[in-house]
Amino acid sequence: ITLYCIMKAMNPLFPNGLILINVSFREGNSPDHHQNITYNQLLRNVCRCANALKLLGVKKGDRVAIYLPMIPELVYTMLACARIGAVHSIVVSSFTDLKCKILLNPALKLMTILLFLLCVCVLQTPWDESCDIWWDDLMDGVSDECEPEWMDSEDPLFILYTSGSTGKPKGVLHTVTGYMLYTSLTFKYVFDYHHDDVYWCTADIGWITGHSYITYGPLANGATSVLFEGVPVYPHVGRLWEIIEKYRVSKFYTAPTAIRLLMKYGREPLQRYDLSSLRVLGTVGEPINLEAWLWYYDVVGQQRCPVIDTFWQTETVKHLQLSKQNKTSFFGTKLPKTPFNRTCPFFGVQPAILNEHGEELEGEAEGYLVFRKPWPGIMRGVYGNQERFESTYFRKFPGFYVTGDGCRRDQDGYYWITGRIDDMLNVSGHLLSTAEVEAALTEHPSVAEAAVVSRPHAVKGECLYCFVTLKDHKEFNRTLMEELKRKVREKIGPIATPDFIQNAPGLPKTRSGKIMRRVLRQIARNEKDLGDLSTLADPKVVEVLFSQRCEAAA
Ligand code: AMP
Repeated sequence: ITLYCIMKAMNPLFPNGLILINVSFREGNSPDHHQNITYNQLLRNVCRCANALKLLGVKKGDRVAIYLPMIPELVYTMLACARIGAVHSIVVSSFTDLKCKILLNPALKLMTILLFLLCVCVLQTPWDESCDIWWDDLMDGVSDECEPEWMDSEDPLFILYTSGSTGKPKGVLHTVTGYMLYTSLTFKYVFDYHHDDVYWCTADIGWITGHSYITYGPLANGATSVLFEGVPVYPHVGRLWEIIEKYRVSKFYTAPTAIRLLMKYGREPLQRYDLSSLRVLGTVGEPINLEAWLWYYDVVGQQRCPVIDTFWQTETVKHLQLSKQNKTSFFGTKLPKTPFNRTCPFFGVQPAILNEHGEELEGEAEGYLVFRKPWPGIMRGVYGNQERFESTYFRKFPGFYVTGDGCRRDQDGYYWITGRIDDMLNVSGHLLSTAEVEAALTEHPSVAEAAVVSRPHAVKGECLYCFVTLKDHKEFNRTLMEELKRKVREKIGPIATPDFIQNAPGLPKTRSGKIMRRVLRQIARNEKDLGDLSTLADPKVVEVLFSQRCEAAA
Protein backbone atom coordinates (compact mmCIF):
# COMPACT_ATOMS: atom_id res chain seq x y z
CA ILE A 1 0.00 0.00 0.00
CA THR A 2 1.25 3.45 -0.76
CA LEU A 3 1.43 6.43 1.52
CA TYR A 4 -1.89 7.60 0.17
CA CYS A 5 -3.63 4.43 1.26
CA ILE A 6 -1.93 4.38 4.64
CA MET A 7 -2.99 7.95 5.24
CA LYS A 8 -6.48 7.18 4.15
CA ALA A 9 -6.71 4.10 6.29
CA MET A 10 -5.17 5.62 9.38
CA ASN A 11 -6.57 9.07 9.50
CA PRO A 12 -10.25 9.96 9.72
CA LEU A 13 -9.38 13.37 8.30
CA PHE A 14 -8.84 11.81 4.89
CA PRO A 15 -12.31 10.49 4.05
CA ASN A 16 -12.20 11.74 0.47
CA GLY A 17 -8.55 11.49 -0.29
CA LEU A 18 -6.18 14.26 0.64
CA ILE A 19 -8.34 17.34 0.64
CA LEU A 20 -7.45 19.04 3.88
CA ILE A 21 -7.58 22.48 5.32
CA ASN A 22 -4.22 22.05 7.07
CA VAL A 23 -1.22 23.86 5.76
CA SER A 24 2.48 23.24 5.86
CA PHE A 25 4.65 26.30 6.21
CA ARG A 26 7.75 26.50 4.11
CA GLU A 27 10.36 28.89 5.47
CA GLY A 28 13.26 29.61 3.14
CA ASN A 29 16.82 30.46 3.96
CA SER A 30 15.89 34.12 3.74
CA PRO A 31 13.11 35.20 6.15
CA ASP A 32 11.07 36.81 3.34
CA HIS A 33 11.03 33.61 1.40
CA HIS A 34 8.06 31.67 2.70
CA GLN A 35 5.04 29.85 1.38
CA ASN A 36 1.98 27.96 2.60
CA ILE A 37 1.31 24.54 1.12
CA THR A 38 -2.06 22.88 1.58
CA TYR A 39 -2.45 19.13 1.53
CA ASN A 40 -4.33 19.48 -1.70
CA GLN A 41 -1.36 21.26 -3.31
CA LEU A 42 0.95 18.67 -1.82
CA LEU A 43 -1.05 15.86 -3.41
CA ARG A 44 -1.08 17.55 -6.81
CA ASN A 45 2.64 18.23 -6.72
CA VAL A 46 3.42 14.70 -5.60
CA CYS A 47 1.29 13.30 -8.42
CA ARG A 48 2.93 15.60 -10.96
CA CYS A 49 6.34 14.51 -9.81
CA ALA A 50 5.26 10.86 -9.81
CA ASN A 51 4.09 11.19 -13.42
CA ALA A 52 7.34 12.93 -14.37
CA LEU A 53 9.37 10.13 -12.81
CA LYS A 54 7.32 7.62 -14.78
CA LEU A 55 8.06 9.56 -17.94
CA LEU A 56 11.75 9.12 -17.15
CA GLY A 57 11.17 5.40 -16.99
CA VAL A 58 11.11 4.98 -13.21
CA LYS A 59 8.91 2.09 -12.14
CA LYS A 60 8.00 0.07 -9.07
CA GLY A 61 11.10 -1.35 -7.38
CA ASP A 62 13.60 1.09 -8.99
CA ARG A 63 15.95 2.97 -6.68
CA VAL A 64 16.03 6.75 -6.96
CA ALA A 65 18.78 8.80 -5.33
CA ILE A 66 17.62 12.29 -4.36
CA TYR A 67 19.95 15.18 -3.75
CA LEU A 68 18.02 18.33 -3.02
CA PRO A 69 18.14 20.97 -0.29
CA MET A 70 15.40 21.35 2.33
CA ILE A 71 12.77 22.59 -0.10
CA PRO A 72 9.24 21.31 -0.79
CA GLU A 73 10.44 19.59 -3.98
CA LEU A 74 12.42 17.22 -1.78
CA VAL A 75 9.25 16.12 0.00
CA TYR A 76 7.34 15.90 -3.29
CA THR A 77 10.01 13.67 -4.77
CA MET A 78 10.14 11.34 -1.77
CA LEU A 79 6.40 10.93 -1.77
CA ALA A 80 6.28 10.62 -5.55
CA CYS A 81 8.66 7.67 -5.27
CA ALA A 82 6.49 6.13 -2.56
CA ARG A 83 3.43 6.67 -4.72
CA ILE A 84 4.80 4.77 -7.68
CA GLY A 85 6.59 2.12 -5.61
CA ALA A 86 10.14 3.34 -6.28
CA VAL A 87 12.65 3.18 -3.43
CA HIS A 88 14.13 6.54 -2.48
CA SER A 89 17.56 7.12 -1.10
CA ILE A 90 18.23 10.64 0.07
CA VAL A 91 21.67 12.06 0.19
CA VAL A 92 22.11 14.72 2.87
CA SER A 93 21.56 18.08 1.23
CA SER A 94 25.01 19.47 1.83
CA PHE A 95 26.71 16.39 0.43
CA THR A 96 29.08 17.49 -2.31
CA ASP A 97 29.76 14.52 -4.53
CA LEU A 98 26.58 12.60 -4.98
CA LYS A 99 27.58 11.53 -8.45
CA CYS A 100 30.79 9.98 -7.26
CA LYS A 101 29.16 8.33 -4.34
CA ILE A 102 26.55 6.76 -6.48
CA LEU A 103 28.53 5.86 -9.51
CA LEU A 104 31.66 4.76 -7.75
CA ASN A 105 29.91 2.35 -5.46
CA PRO A 106 29.05 -0.66 -7.60
CA ALA A 107 27.11 -2.37 -4.80
CA LEU A 108 24.60 0.42 -4.87
CA LYS A 109 23.37 0.11 -8.46
CA LEU A 110 21.16 3.12 -7.87
CA MET A 111 19.31 4.71 -10.68
CA THR A 112 20.67 8.24 -10.67
CA ILE A 113 18.37 11.05 -11.50
CA LEU A 114 19.54 14.53 -10.66
CA LEU A 115 16.63 16.87 -10.32
CA PHE A 116 17.54 20.52 -10.49
CA LEU A 117 15.11 23.21 -9.52
CA LEU A 118 15.71 26.53 -11.23
CA CYS A 119 18.36 28.12 -9.05
CA VAL A 120 18.91 24.98 -7.04
CA CYS A 121 21.86 24.12 -9.18
CA VAL A 122 24.00 23.78 -6.08
CA LEU A 123 26.33 21.20 -7.54
CA GLN A 124 29.32 22.96 -8.95
CA THR A 125 29.57 20.44 -11.74
CA PRO A 126 29.01 21.36 -15.37
CA TRP A 127 25.60 20.77 -16.89
CA ASP A 128 25.46 17.39 -18.59
CA GLU A 129 22.97 17.28 -21.45
CA SER A 130 22.81 13.52 -21.33
CA CYS A 131 21.32 13.27 -17.85
CA ASP A 132 20.58 16.70 -16.36
CA ILE A 133 17.00 17.94 -16.62
CA TRP A 134 15.40 21.10 -15.35
CA TRP A 135 12.70 20.41 -12.81
CA ASP A 136 10.30 22.89 -14.41
CA ASP A 137 10.78 21.38 -17.86
CA LEU A 138 10.06 17.96 -16.44
CA MET A 139 6.92 19.01 -14.55
CA ASP A 140 5.52 21.09 -17.38
CA GLY A 141 2.53 19.46 -18.92
CA VAL A 142 2.32 16.32 -16.79
CA SER A 143 -0.99 15.46 -15.15
CA ASP A 144 -1.55 16.21 -11.47
CA GLU A 145 -3.37 12.95 -10.98
CA CYS A 146 -1.55 9.67 -10.47
CA GLU A 147 -3.08 6.47 -9.21
CA PRO A 148 -0.96 5.02 -6.41
CA GLU A 149 0.82 1.76 -7.05
CA TRP A 150 -0.34 -1.15 -4.91
CA MET A 151 2.47 -2.49 -2.79
CA ASP A 152 3.04 -5.40 -0.46
CA SER A 153 3.44 -4.24 3.12
CA GLU A 154 6.96 -5.68 3.15
CA ASP A 155 8.07 -3.99 -0.08
CA PRO A 156 10.96 -1.54 0.40
CA LEU A 157 10.12 2.12 0.94
CA PHE A 158 13.58 3.66 1.21
CA ILE A 159 17.27 3.10 1.80
CA LEU A 160 19.01 5.56 4.08
CA TYR A 161 22.67 5.67 4.90
CA THR A 162 23.52 5.87 8.61
CA SER A 163 25.37 8.92 9.84
CA GLY A 164 28.77 7.21 9.72
CA SER A 165 29.74 8.40 13.19
CA THR A 166 31.14 4.96 14.05
CA GLY A 167 32.37 3.66 10.71
CA LYS A 168 31.53 3.27 7.06
CA PRO A 169 27.88 4.28 6.52
CA LYS A 170 25.39 1.41 6.12
CA GLY A 171 22.43 1.47 3.73
CA VAL A 172 19.53 0.83 6.08
CA LEU A 173 16.49 -0.63 4.34
CA HIS A 174 12.96 0.14 5.57
CA THR A 175 9.70 -1.24 4.28
CA VAL A 176 6.38 0.41 3.56
CA THR A 177 3.93 -0.47 6.29
CA GLY A 178 6.01 -1.09 9.40
CA TYR A 179 7.95 2.12 8.92
CA MET A 180 4.92 4.27 8.30
CA LEU A 181 2.93 2.72 11.09
CA TYR A 182 5.68 3.40 13.61
CA THR A 183 6.55 6.92 12.45
CA SER A 184 2.92 7.82 12.44
CA LEU A 185 2.26 6.39 15.91
CA THR A 186 5.41 7.73 17.52
CA PHE A 187 4.67 11.17 16.09
CA LYS A 188 1.15 11.07 17.47
CA TYR A 189 1.90 9.79 20.94
CA VAL A 190 5.42 10.90 21.73
CA PHE A 191 4.70 14.50 20.79
CA ASP A 192 1.11 14.35 22.01
CA TYR A 193 -0.02 15.65 18.64
CA HIS A 194 -3.38 17.46 18.39
CA HIS A 195 -4.97 18.98 15.33
CA ASP A 196 -4.48 22.54 16.52
CA ASP A 197 -0.73 22.04 16.92
CA VAL A 198 1.93 23.59 14.74
CA TYR A 199 4.84 21.22 14.72
CA TRP A 200 8.43 21.86 13.72
CA CYS A 201 11.36 19.50 13.51
CA THR A 202 14.62 21.23 12.59
CA ALA A 203 16.42 18.10 11.32
CA ASP A 204 17.71 17.68 7.79
CA ILE A 205 15.45 15.38 5.76
CA GLY A 206 18.57 13.47 4.75
CA TRP A 207 18.78 12.15 8.30
CA ILE A 208 16.28 9.58 9.58
CA THR A 209 14.83 12.17 11.96
CA GLY A 210 13.86 14.32 9.00
CA HIS A 211 12.45 11.36 7.02
CA SER A 212 10.31 10.33 9.95
CA TYR A 213 9.43 13.57 11.69
CA ILE A 214 9.32 16.07 8.84
CA THR A 215 7.92 13.95 6.04
CA TYR A 216 6.16 10.72 6.96
CA GLY A 217 5.12 11.14 10.62
CA PRO A 218 3.50 14.59 10.49
CA LEU A 219 1.99 14.10 7.03
CA ALA A 220 0.44 10.74 7.91
CA ASN A 221 -1.24 12.51 10.84
CA GLY A 222 -2.48 15.41 8.70
CA ALA A 223 -0.41 17.76 10.86
CA THR A 224 0.39 21.39 10.25
CA SER A 225 4.16 21.60 10.18
CA VAL A 226 7.10 23.79 9.25
CA LEU A 227 9.74 22.93 6.67
CA PHE A 228 12.81 25.10 7.21
CA GLU A 229 15.47 25.44 4.56
CA GLY A 230 17.98 27.60 6.42
CA VAL A 231 20.41 27.40 9.30
CA PRO A 232 19.81 28.48 12.93
CA VAL A 233 22.10 31.50 12.83
CA TYR A 234 21.21 33.14 9.51
CA PRO A 235 20.54 36.03 9.10
CA HIS A 236 20.75 36.36 12.89
CA VAL A 237 21.18 34.10 15.91
CA GLY A 238 17.52 34.41 16.93
CA ARG A 239 16.24 32.86 13.69
CA LEU A 240 14.75 29.72 15.27
CA TRP A 241 12.92 31.76 17.91
CA GLU A 242 11.67 34.14 15.25
CA ILE A 243 10.19 31.21 13.31
CA ILE A 244 8.53 29.82 16.44
CA GLU A 245 6.84 33.19 16.98
CA LYS A 246 5.98 33.63 13.29
CA TYR A 247 4.10 30.32 12.95
CA ARG A 248 3.04 29.92 16.61
CA VAL A 249 4.92 26.60 16.81
CA SER A 250 3.64 24.44 19.68
CA LYS A 251 5.77 21.28 19.30
CA PHE A 252 9.47 21.82 18.67
CA TYR A 253 11.98 19.04 18.00
CA THR A 254 15.71 19.62 17.68
CA ALA A 255 19.11 18.16 18.60
CA PRO A 256 21.47 18.87 21.53
CA THR A 257 24.07 20.15 19.07
CA ALA A 258 21.69 22.94 17.97
CA ILE A 259 20.82 23.74 21.58
CA ARG A 260 24.49 24.03 22.52
CA LEU A 261 25.17 26.21 19.50
CA LEU A 262 22.41 28.64 20.46
CA MET A 263 23.25 28.60 24.18
CA LYS A 264 26.51 30.25 23.26
CA TYR A 265 24.60 33.45 22.39
CA GLY A 266 22.82 33.66 25.73
CA ARG A 267 19.19 34.52 26.52
CA GLU A 268 18.93 37.85 24.80
CA PRO A 269 18.13 36.54 21.28
CA LEU A 270 15.18 34.58 22.71
CA GLN A 271 13.84 37.42 24.76
CA ARG A 272 13.05 39.35 21.60
CA TYR A 273 10.40 36.79 20.60
CA ASP A 274 7.14 35.46 21.95
CA LEU A 275 7.60 31.74 22.62
CA SER A 276 4.36 31.32 24.55
CA SER A 277 2.93 28.98 21.87
CA LEU A 278 5.42 26.22 22.77
CA ARG A 279 3.97 23.23 24.61
CA VAL A 280 6.36 20.30 24.09
CA LEU A 281 10.08 20.24 23.34
CA GLY A 282 11.88 17.24 21.91
CA THR A 283 15.54 16.30 21.64
CA VAL A 284 17.23 13.60 19.58
CA GLY A 285 20.58 12.47 18.22
CA GLU A 286 22.88 12.05 21.22
CA PRO A 287 22.72 12.06 24.99
CA ILE A 288 21.78 15.58 26.06
CA ASN A 289 24.09 17.05 28.69
CA LEU A 290 22.59 18.59 31.81
CA GLU A 291 23.55 22.17 30.90
CA ALA A 292 21.85 21.91 27.53
CA TRP A 293 18.80 20.22 29.06
CA LEU A 294 18.42 22.96 31.67
CA TRP A 295 18.79 25.72 29.10
CA TYR A 296 16.25 24.06 26.81
CA TYR A 297 13.80 23.61 29.66
CA ASP A 298 14.35 26.94 31.47
CA VAL A 299 15.07 29.37 28.69
CA VAL A 300 13.35 27.94 25.59
CA GLY A 301 10.47 26.15 27.32
CA GLN A 302 10.20 28.79 30.06
CA GLN A 303 9.83 25.98 32.60
CA ARG A 304 6.44 25.23 31.10
CA CYS A 305 7.18 22.60 28.49
CA PRO A 306 8.31 19.04 29.13
CA VAL A 307 11.46 18.02 27.29
CA ILE A 308 11.06 14.66 25.59
CA ASP A 309 14.31 12.86 25.03
CA THR A 310 13.79 10.48 22.13
CA PHE A 311 16.42 7.80 21.72
CA TRP A 312 16.34 5.97 18.44
CA GLN A 313 18.40 5.00 15.43
CA THR A 314 18.13 5.00 11.64
CA GLU A 315 17.70 1.27 12.08
CA THR A 316 14.93 1.27 14.66
CA VAL A 317 12.32 3.96 13.96
CA LYS A 318 10.92 3.82 17.41
CA HIS A 319 11.53 5.60 20.61
CA LEU A 320 12.61 5.06 24.09
CA GLN A 321 11.38 8.25 25.66
CA LEU A 322 10.97 9.93 28.92
CA SER A 323 8.05 9.26 31.20
CA LYS A 324 7.82 9.17 34.96
CA GLN A 325 4.63 8.68 36.94
CA ASN A 326 3.32 5.92 34.80
CA LYS A 327 5.40 4.09 32.28
CA THR A 328 2.51 3.83 29.89
CA SER A 329 1.72 7.55 29.89
CA PHE A 330 3.42 8.64 26.71
CA PHE A 331 1.59 11.83 26.14
CA GLY A 332 4.01 14.68 25.78
CA THR A 333 2.23 17.32 27.80
CA LYS A 334 1.82 14.99 30.77
CA LEU A 335 5.49 14.22 30.98
CA PRO A 336 7.43 15.15 34.08
CA LYS A 337 9.81 18.05 34.10
CA THR A 338 12.75 16.17 35.54
CA PRO A 339 16.09 16.92 33.96
CA PHE A 340 17.83 14.51 31.75
CA ASN A 341 17.60 11.60 29.53
CA ARG A 342 15.66 9.08 31.59
CA THR A 343 13.60 7.10 29.18
CA CYS A 344 11.19 4.23 28.95
CA PRO A 345 10.08 2.21 25.94
CA PHE A 346 7.43 2.94 23.35
CA PHE A 347 4.62 0.45 22.71
CA GLY A 348 5.94 -2.87 21.50
CA VAL A 349 9.57 -2.22 22.41
CA GLN A 350 11.18 -4.57 24.91
CA PRO A 351 14.61 -3.39 26.02
CA ALA A 352 17.06 -5.47 28.07
CA ILE A 353 20.50 -4.79 29.48
CA LEU A 354 23.23 -7.41 28.99
CA ASN A 355 26.73 -7.72 30.33
CA GLU A 356 29.77 -8.52 28.18
CA HIS A 357 28.99 -12.27 28.42
CA GLY A 358 25.46 -11.78 27.13
CA GLU A 359 23.84 -12.38 30.52
CA GLU A 360 20.75 -10.35 31.19
CA LEU A 361 21.03 -7.91 34.09
CA GLU A 362 18.06 -7.28 36.33
CA GLY A 363 17.18 -4.22 38.42
CA GLU A 364 19.65 -1.37 38.69
CA ALA A 365 22.34 -2.14 36.11
CA GLU A 366 24.56 -0.83 33.35
CA GLY A 367 25.62 -2.58 30.16
CA TYR A 368 24.68 -3.18 26.53
CA LEU A 369 21.27 -1.96 25.42
CA VAL A 370 19.51 -4.63 23.36
CA PHE A 371 15.95 -5.28 22.22
CA ARG A 372 14.27 -8.57 22.79
CA LYS A 373 11.69 -8.75 20.02
CA PRO A 374 11.27 -7.19 16.60
CA TRP A 375 8.77 -4.32 16.23
CA PRO A 376 7.04 -3.07 13.08
CA GLY A 377 9.51 -0.26 12.32
CA ILE A 378 12.72 -2.27 12.62
CA MET A 379 15.05 -2.14 9.60
CA ARG A 380 14.72 -5.07 7.23
CA GLY A 381 18.35 -5.24 6.17
CA VAL A 382 21.56 -3.52 5.14
CA TYR A 383 21.05 -2.85 1.47
CA GLY A 384 23.02 -5.36 -0.57
CA ASN A 385 24.83 -6.80 2.43
CA GLN A 386 22.94 -9.42 4.45
CA GLU A 387 26.15 -10.52 6.16
CA ARG A 388 26.81 -7.02 7.51
CA PHE A 389 23.20 -6.84 8.72
CA GLU A 390 23.52 -10.06 10.69
CA SER A 391 27.00 -9.43 12.04
CA THR A 392 26.35 -5.82 13.10
CA TYR A 393 23.04 -6.26 14.83
CA PHE A 394 22.48 -9.88 15.78
CA ARG A 395 25.72 -11.83 16.12
CA LYS A 396 27.19 -10.45 19.32
CA PHE A 397 24.20 -11.51 21.43
CA PRO A 398 22.14 -14.13 19.56
CA GLY A 399 18.41 -13.64 19.99
CA PHE A 400 18.64 -9.89 20.55
CA TYR A 401 18.88 -6.76 18.41
CA VAL A 402 22.09 -5.05 19.52
CA THR A 403 21.85 -1.24 19.46
CA GLY A 404 25.57 -0.66 20.01
CA ASP A 405 24.66 1.80 22.76
CA GLY A 406 25.40 1.58 26.44
CA CYS A 407 22.60 2.04 28.92
CA ARG A 408 21.92 2.25 32.63
CA ARG A 409 18.67 1.28 34.38
CA ASP A 410 18.07 3.24 37.56
CA GLN A 411 16.36 2.05 40.72
CA ASP A 412 12.97 3.21 39.42
CA GLY A 413 13.34 1.16 36.23
CA TYR A 414 14.09 4.03 33.82
CA TYR A 415 16.70 3.78 31.10
CA TRP A 416 19.58 6.25 30.67
CA ILE A 417 21.49 6.10 27.40
CA THR A 418 25.19 6.44 28.13
CA GLY A 419 26.49 6.61 24.54
CA ARG A 420 27.94 4.29 21.92
CA ILE A 421 29.64 1.25 23.43
CA ASP A 422 32.57 1.81 21.05
CA ASP A 423 33.00 5.15 22.78
CA MET A 424 33.24 3.70 26.29
CA LEU A 425 36.60 3.92 28.05
CA ASN A 426 38.27 1.34 30.18
CA VAL A 427 40.53 3.17 32.65
CA SER A 428 42.37 0.86 35.03
CA GLY A 429 39.58 -1.67 34.69
CA HIS A 430 36.78 0.88 35.28
CA LEU A 431 34.31 1.27 32.46
CA LEU A 432 33.54 4.97 31.93
CA SER A 433 30.89 6.51 29.73
CA THR A 434 32.14 9.31 27.51
CA ALA A 435 28.73 10.97 27.74
CA GLU A 436 29.03 11.31 31.50
CA VAL A 437 32.50 12.86 31.33
CA GLU A 438 31.33 15.21 28.59
CA ALA A 439 28.33 16.22 30.69
CA ALA A 440 30.68 17.05 33.58
CA LEU A 441 32.92 19.16 31.34
CA THR A 442 30.04 21.14 29.86
CA GLU A 443 28.88 22.06 33.35
CA HIS A 444 31.82 24.44 33.45
CA PRO A 445 30.53 27.91 32.54
CA SER A 446 33.25 28.48 29.91
CA VAL A 447 32.61 25.27 27.96
CA ALA A 448 30.14 25.19 25.08
CA GLU A 449 30.77 21.62 23.94
CA ALA A 450 33.03 18.69 24.81
CA ALA A 451 33.98 15.34 23.32
CA VAL A 452 35.94 12.68 25.14
CA VAL A 453 37.83 9.73 23.65
CA SER A 454 40.32 7.17 24.86
CA ARG A 455 44.06 7.12 24.27
CA PRO A 456 46.26 4.16 25.18
CA HIS A 457 48.10 4.53 28.49
CA ALA A 458 51.05 2.43 29.66
CA VAL A 459 49.73 1.97 33.19
CA LYS A 460 45.98 2.53 33.10
CA GLY A 461 45.34 0.74 29.79
CA GLU A 462 43.35 3.70 28.51
CA CYS A 463 43.17 7.32 29.59
CA LEU A 464 40.88 10.25 28.78
CA TYR A 465 41.64 12.68 26.00
CA CYS A 466 39.17 15.57 26.06
CA PHE A 467 38.37 18.09 23.35
CA VAL A 468 36.61 21.23 24.59
CA THR A 469 35.01 24.02 22.59
CA LEU A 470 34.77 27.22 24.60
CA LYS A 471 31.99 29.76 24.62
CA ASP A 472 32.63 33.03 22.78
CA HIS A 473 35.34 35.22 24.35
CA LYS A 474 36.49 32.58 26.88
CA GLU A 475 40.19 31.87 27.19
CA PHE A 476 41.78 28.43 27.15
CA ASN A 477 44.56 28.41 29.76
CA ARG A 478 46.08 26.34 32.56
CA THR A 479 43.62 27.58 35.21
CA LEU A 480 40.74 26.46 33.05
CA MET A 481 42.35 23.03 32.56
CA GLU A 482 42.72 22.63 36.32
CA GLU A 483 39.10 23.66 36.88
CA LEU A 484 37.92 21.17 34.29
CA LYS A 485 39.87 18.34 35.86
CA ARG A 486 38.46 19.23 39.26
CA LYS A 487 34.93 19.30 37.85
CA VAL A 488 35.24 15.78 36.41
CA ARG A 489 36.82 14.47 39.63
CA GLU A 490 33.98 15.90 41.70
CA LYS A 491 31.20 14.67 39.41
CA ILE A 492 32.49 11.20 38.55
CA GLY A 493 35.53 10.40 40.67
CA PRO A 494 39.32 10.54 40.53
CA ILE A 495 39.44 7.61 38.11
CA ALA A 496 37.88 9.83 35.43
CA THR A 497 40.40 12.68 35.74
CA PRO A 498 41.31 13.75 32.19
CA ASP A 499 44.91 13.21 31.12
CA PHE A 500 44.73 15.40 28.04
CA ILE A 501 42.60 18.47 27.41
CA GLN A 502 42.74 20.05 23.97
CA ASN A 503 41.17 23.34 22.93
CA ALA A 504 38.89 22.55 19.97
CA PRO A 505 37.60 25.59 18.06
CA GLY A 506 35.31 23.12 16.24
CA LEU A 507 34.52 19.39 16.46
CA PRO A 508 34.25 16.95 13.55
CA LYS A 509 30.55 16.28 13.06
CA THR A 510 28.40 14.35 10.69
CA ARG A 511 25.91 16.28 8.68
CA SER A 512 23.24 15.29 11.20
CA GLY A 513 25.30 17.02 13.91
CA LYS A 514 26.79 13.94 15.61
CA ILE A 515 30.33 14.17 16.87
CA MET A 516 32.56 11.69 15.00
CA ARG A 517 34.41 10.29 17.98
CA ARG A 518 36.28 7.73 15.93
CA VAL A 519 38.00 10.63 14.13
CA LEU A 520 38.79 12.28 17.47
CA ARG A 521 40.17 8.99 18.75
CA GLN A 522 42.50 8.88 15.78
CA ILE A 523 43.59 12.49 16.37
CA ALA A 524 44.27 11.66 20.04
CA ARG A 525 46.39 8.69 18.91
CA ASN A 526 47.99 10.61 16.05
CA GLU A 527 46.73 8.09 13.48
CA LYS A 528 46.65 9.81 10.12
CA ASP A 529 44.66 7.25 8.11
CA LEU A 530 41.13 8.40 8.91
CA GLY A 531 39.13 6.03 6.72
CA ASP A 532 35.72 6.96 5.27
CA LEU A 533 34.99 10.64 5.94
CA SER A 534 32.23 11.01 3.39
CA THR A 535 29.67 12.06 6.00
CA LEU A 536 31.89 14.61 7.71
CA ALA A 537 30.36 18.10 7.52
CA ASP A 538 33.55 20.18 7.56
CA PRO A 539 36.85 18.35 6.90
CA LYS A 540 38.91 21.48 7.74
CA VAL A 541 38.13 21.01 11.43
CA VAL A 542 40.17 17.80 11.42
CA GLU A 543 43.30 19.52 10.10
CA VAL A 544 43.05 22.20 12.80
CA LEU A 545 42.68 19.61 15.55
CA PHE A 546 45.59 17.56 14.25
CA SER A 547 47.80 20.63 14.19
CA GLN A 548 46.98 21.48 17.80
CA ARG A 549 46.94 18.02 19.35
CA CYS A 550 48.41 17.55 22.84
CA GLU A 551 51.64 15.63 22.99
CA ALA A 552 52.09 15.81 26.74
CA ALA A 553 49.57 15.14 29.49
CA ALA A 554 47.82 18.19 30.95
P1 AMP B 1 21.44 7.76 13.77
O1 AMP B 1 20.99 6.45 13.30
O2 AMP B 1 22.41 8.43 12.86
O3 AMP B 1 20.30 8.67 14.11
O4 AMP B 1 22.26 7.50 15.13
C1 AMP B 1 21.69 6.72 16.17
C2 AMP B 1 22.54 6.85 17.39
O5 AMP B 1 22.44 8.18 17.92
C3 AMP B 1 22.10 5.97 18.54
O6 AMP B 1 22.61 4.67 18.44
C4 AMP B 1 22.64 6.71 19.75
O7 AMP B 1 24.01 6.46 19.94
C5 AMP B 1 22.48 8.16 19.34
N1 AMP B 1 21.23 8.75 19.85
C6 AMP B 1 20.15 9.11 19.14
N2 AMP B 1 19.24 9.69 19.92
C7 AMP B 1 19.74 9.71 21.18
C8 AMP B 1 19.26 10.17 22.45
N3 AMP B 1 18.10 10.77 22.57
N4 AMP B 1 20.05 9.96 23.54
C9 AMP B 1 21.26 9.36 23.42
N5 AMP B 1 21.77 8.92 22.25
C10 AMP B 1 21.02 9.09 21.14
